[in-house]
Amino acid sequence: MDERCNQILRNMEASLTARDRVGIQDFVLLDPYTSETAFLENLKKRFHENLIYTYIGTLLVSVNPYKDFDIYSKKQMDIYMGVNFFELPPHIYALADNVFRTMLSEFNNHFILISGESGAGKTEASKKILQFYAVSCPSTKLLNNVRDRLLFSNPVLENDNSSRFGKYMDIQFDHQGGAVGGHVLSYLLEKSRVVHQNHGERNFHIFYQLVEGGEEDLLRWLGLERNCQHYRYLVQGDCAKVSSINDKSDWRTVRKALSVIEFSENDIEQLFGIIASVLHLGNIKFEANERGYASLNNNNQEMNWVSKLLGIPTQVLQQGLTHRKIEAKAEEVFSPFSVDHAVYARDALAKAIYGRTFNWLVNKINESLVNKWESVPFFNNKIICDLVEEKHRGIISLLDEECLRPGEATDLTFLEKMEEKIAGHPHFVTHKLADQKTRKTLDRGDFRLLHYAGEVTYCVVGFLDKNNDLLYRNGKEVMRQSKNAIIKLCFPSTEPDSKRRPETVVTQFKSSLVGLTEILMSKEPWYVRCIKPNEAKQPGRFDDVLVRHQVKYLGLMEHLRVRRAGFAYRRKYEIFLQRYKALCPDTWPNWKGTAAEGVHCLVKHMGYTPDEYKMGRTKIFIRHPKTLFATEDAFQV
Ligand code: ATP
Ligand code: MG
Repeated sequence: MDERCNQILRNMEASLTARDRVGIQDFVLLDPYTSETAFLENLKKRFHENLIYTYIGTLLVSVNPYKDFDIYSKKQMDIYMGVNFFELPPHIYALADNVFRTMLSEFNNHFILISGESGAGKTEASKKILQFYAVSCPSTKLLNNVRDRLLFSNPVLENDNSSRFGKYMDIQFDHQGGAVGGHVLSYLLEKSRVVHQNHGERNFHIFYQLVEGGEEDLLRWLGLERNCQHYRYLVQGDCAKVSSINDKSDWRTVRKALSVIEFSENDIEQLFGIIASVLHLGNIKFEANERGYASLNNNNQEMNWVSKLLGIPTQVLQQGLTHRKIEAKAEEVFSPFSVDHAVYARDALAKAIYGRTFNWLVNKINESLVNKWESVPFFNNKIICDLVEEKHRGIISLLDEECLRPGEATDLTFLEKMEEKIAGHPHFVTHKLADQKTRKTLDRGDFRLLHYAGEVTYCVVGFLDKNNDLLYRNGKEVMRQSKNAIIKLCFPSTEPDSKRRPETVVTQFKSSLVGLTEILMSKEPWYVRCIKPNEAKQPGRFDDVLVRHQVKYLGLMEHLRVRRAGFAYRRKYEIFLQRYKALCPDTWPNWKGTAAEGVHCLVKHMGYTPDEYKMGRTKIFIRHPKTLFATEDAFQV
């Protein structure tokens, strides 16, 4: 045991000695009054030495290197297996391995939360963790199945260098640590991207892959031309072609993935039918008739293709795209759309079709992941603060309210409404509400929220558009007549029609976040914080301003302060006692008192000194890893 502790100390000392060159591998070891600048310097130093991982206690900070290193080999995995934190240089494998072993020793559930902004390396990190488990967990055929399917779900769901949706992947292990099942939960798809992309952005990759890579026969059957420029929904960002992306070969990967996940040919055919019909929908042009209303020619080619691919009678589709159904007393009246309104309704329909099909796909993948998965009972969600979600006055409800005034409301009226209703809130500020000094840092279209982890400034431009997801009721009804099996499932006739208030994007997001938080609260957290070092995706470039911003809003300094205040290790009394009770004659085999008393007795027996630990309300807090390692080792003697 002494040798083990000495090794750890040597490691730490080595890290301290080498600090001038390679920085320090655990921020907790930096000087006690570390400034943000020193924090950044350390990250930067390590980044330039190709050391992309750094700990804050057991939290892992990862800086995207935008280049490949030889640190993810089988050999590296072997090195990290079964080794305690701090005994080796920081690595995502060390974290993965520790989570796995803690789960096996404590018989409880864990989750790894990977956060960071777009392009920071979250999806890569999750893949590395899955790959590590695929090698390190006891081998079963089932594990390979689960692993392959979770990994292959990536090319199907991902949008390459940007996922555009939040993802929660779940792997279930049995008591020996063999994987027996998995689950993927998606919690936001940036649906607006289907119909609109900003300059330099692409639509979801699958569209380009199909058009570029789809077999001749398939394209003919779908009525598609092999030319992305031909499709309105594909060219708004003006970058249908990207040199780093090979749509043709990606198409083959997706086809392979679909067969690994065991989609039937029939499913695949219907799926492509839907993707193609979204493209056709985007090309539908409305003309104004003599009364100024939107009209569509019976022979509109695009409409005919949508009708064929989704199995919806042309007339029904035509009516649905140009009229809105209003129920007046006992009658149904069709009120014609203006051209603008029709375009809006068409785009909403395209988004709904894509969004719902995406959810269907996620469910389908889950079905293929041998399911022992159960949702977790309700708990009171405290994470999203009232400022954002409070009824009538919260930002979400103000935004939803504005979305119900199409034609009148704008991003700016939304901002003004917030200024009117939320003025004076200590965590909310805008250009108009700010004091003179702060005002200089805000534009007229900005609002700033003071989150516990730091300030974040949002620009209201585009808020209304992105939140607007109003799908007219008869749009849904039209879809219900579809003969396409997937569309039928996505637009069930049993779905309740919320007459007045259709769910907007943030409301949907909020409900899915609540679901996610429920799951997470039942498990022990581990954290990976990913940082994007530059916007240009260039290796070797570390943009101080950009990184400083991320360090701020990822709350890393706060995290360091908490860790430094000590006691990086915490264990519930019951778990601690269960694990170590055999080390003390008084607690073994059965302790009669409370778990806290048992733990107290146990640590006294083990000779913990008062500064090494603290007794909390439900947990014991241990200051230093070596104390815990020593206890572990005593256990194994
Ligand atoms: P989004 O939120 O947009 O989905 P993300 O955080 O999931 O973004 P990734 O797709 O994981 O971002 O990473 C973006 C790109 O950065 C990857 O395609 C890869 O080229 C590179 N990258 C990320 N992590 C690593 C790593 N550990 N080593 C090498 N390259 C990496
Ligand atoms: Mg991603």
